[in-house]
Formats: sequence, structure tokens, C-alpha cells
Amino acid sequence: MYNIQGYFEAETVKEAVDLLAANPNLVVIAGGTDVLIKMHHGQIEKAELLSIRKIKSLEGIEKLEDGTVTIGPLTTFTQVANSPVIKENIPVLAEAALSMGGPQIRNVATIGGNICNGATSADSASTLFALDARLKLQSPQGERVVPIQDFYLGPGKVDLKPAELLTGILISPENYQGYAGHYIKFSMRKAMDIATLGVAVLCKLKEGRLFEDVRIGLGVAAPTPIRCPEAEAFARGKDVSRETIAEIGKLAVKATRARTSWRASKEYREHLVEELTQRALKAAVLKAGGGEVA
Ligand SMILES: Cc1cc2nc3c(=O)[nH]c(=O)nc-3n(C[C@H](O)[C@H](O)[C@H](O)COP(=O)(O)OP(=O)(O)OC[C@H]3O[C@@H](n4cnc5c(N)ncnc54)[C@H](O)[C@@H]3O)c2cc1C
Repeated sequence: MYNIQGYFEAETVKEAVDLLAANPNLVVIAGGTDVLIKMHHGQIEKAELLSIRKIKSLEGIEKLEDGTVTIGPLTTFTQVANSPVIKENIPVLAEAALSMGGPQIRNVATIGGNICNGATSADSASTLFALDARLKLQSPQGERVVPIQDFYLGPGKVDLKPAELLTGILISPENYQGYAGHYIKFSMRKAMDIATLGVAVLCKLKEGRLFEDVRIGLGVAAPTPIRCPEAEAFARGKDVSRETIAEIGKLAVKATRARTSWRASKEYREHLVEELTQRALKAAVLKAGGGEVA
């Protein structure tokens, strides 16, 4: 059932990446809510596991002097949702974190595991896309920082080099200050479920009546999470109105590459993108101090 061939624990990032370099077959485990399910279902037949849970430097959320918010990959969804730094500065990320799983899963599952599993349905991903988050990665060769958009390569595939660990998620002040956001997770049932579609919208208003900037991050609308560049470009400088928002919803669909699965047809997902982008944007406008758009 769980064919665990070996189990290692690292207490520092250096120890972890050195162990990974010495044994390329090691599978990193953080909360284990994906890795262990895959082992249970036979998607990972047998593995030697490297637990990173004891690496203290990978935990927690901080706001640096320059306003950058840093999130350690081992931070659980419960910690993200309850973090005063997140609630005060980036409340839309707390919303997304709360929509994930149920309380037991949120207490164990980490935000780093959510990103590194490469799932388009990952509840943190669409919001982190909209926030232009950057990822800090460490290997024995050194450190690199990549935009989250470049990290996702395909379904379940991310740009983790051999012996590399995700060590931080960075959100710069220019990507959250002055913005209000809203996350909608649409799933087929109200109880714990994976998203049929995830929509994260951020907006910044000018004088409460013009869109200065709009950002749309979508999950499950393509093989990876995506942004909607055409809809975002159209929005800039436009008045906040029902017509503008309707057009943004239509243009958002152009960025998608939805497919039919047992959860929903391609057409239904496209309908959801158009409708839920509008709903999320209307909610974000209200939070940004604009009026209600009927
Ligand atoms: C019942 C249930 C409900 C769920 N509901 C949801 C949901 O609603 N929304 C959602 O998005 N997900 C959901 N999930 C999926 C899962 O819980 C999340 O993806 C979770 O965030 C994974 O985190 P983890 O710490 O458990 O990852 P793990 O299982 O430990 O790891 C996941 C992957 O990331 C790699 N990894 C982890 N950390 C690092 C790191 N720092 N550096 C490099 N690689 C790393 C691992 O090697 C593995 O490939 C659910 C899972 C279960 C079992």
C-alpha cells in the first residue's frame, strides 16, 4: 500500500539539497497530502522519502522592510489564512487559503507543496499568479528566483531542477499595495472538493470610477494556471461599468484552453470563466471602494 523504501529527515536547506544531490531518487515530502495519496493510489509505486518538515527556516510569513511579503513553503494553509500579515496586506490570499480542503487538510498541507505539485487546480496558484509572485529556489549550485508564471510547465510539471527545493514565495509591494481582490472557487459540491474553476481577480481603481489595473488569475481553465492578458489590457483606463466588466469577462475566455473532463465540459468551464470573472471583479471593485455594479 505505502511502499516506503527509506525515510530521511533534513534540518537545514543545505542538508536537504545535499541529500537530494547524493540520491536523485529521493522524493521530497512536506505535509504529505499529495505524496502519500499518490503512493496509496500507486501513482508513485515505491519511494525513498526526504522529509523537510524540520527545516525551521522554511516556515512562517514575514513582511520585510521594503514591503515584500515572504511566505515560507512549509507554511500550512491554516497559517496562511490566519496570518495577520496576510489578512492585513493580501486578504485575497487568506480567502483562497480558506477555500482549500477542510480544516484537517489545511492544518497539514503546505503552500509550497501546493505549488510544487504543479496542479492547475491548486487553490493558492491563481491568486499567486495574479500577485505576480516570485519563487526562491535553492540547489547545491546556488539560489535562483523565478516568476511563478515560468515555474509551471504543464499538468503536474514544474521547473524544479535536480536537487532543488522551493525555499520562499515573494510578493512585492507594488503587486498588492492599492489592490483589492476576490477569489471564487467553483466546485461541484459545497463540501470539500477540488476546484472545477478557480478565479482570482485583483483590481486597483482611480478616483473610484476607472480601472487603473485589473489582474485575472485562473485555475483549471488550461493545463496550468494562467493570466488573461487581453482582458487585463482592455480593462486599463476604462470606466467601472457593467459594460466594461461584461467585456472583460468575454475577453478572459480568450486566454483559456479548457478541456472536457468528468468534472465539467469545455463549454461549461468557458461559461464559468466569463461569468465568475465578472462576479469576482464586481466583488473586488466593492472592496476597492468603488460602487456596486449591478
Ligand atoms: C482530502 C484532500 C483534499 C484536498 N483538497 C484540496 C483543495 O481543496 N485544493 C487544493 O489546492 N489542493 C487540495 N488537496 C491537495 C493537497 O492537499 C495540496 O496540494 C497541498 O497543498 C499539498 O501540500 P503538502 O505539503 O501536503 O505537499 P506534499 O504532498 O508533501 O508534496 C507535494 C509535492 O510537492 C513537492 N514539494 C513539497 N514541498 C516542496 C518544496 N519546498 N520544494 C520542492 N518540492 C516540494 C513534493 O515532492 C511533491 O511532489 C487536497 C488533498 C487531500 C488529500
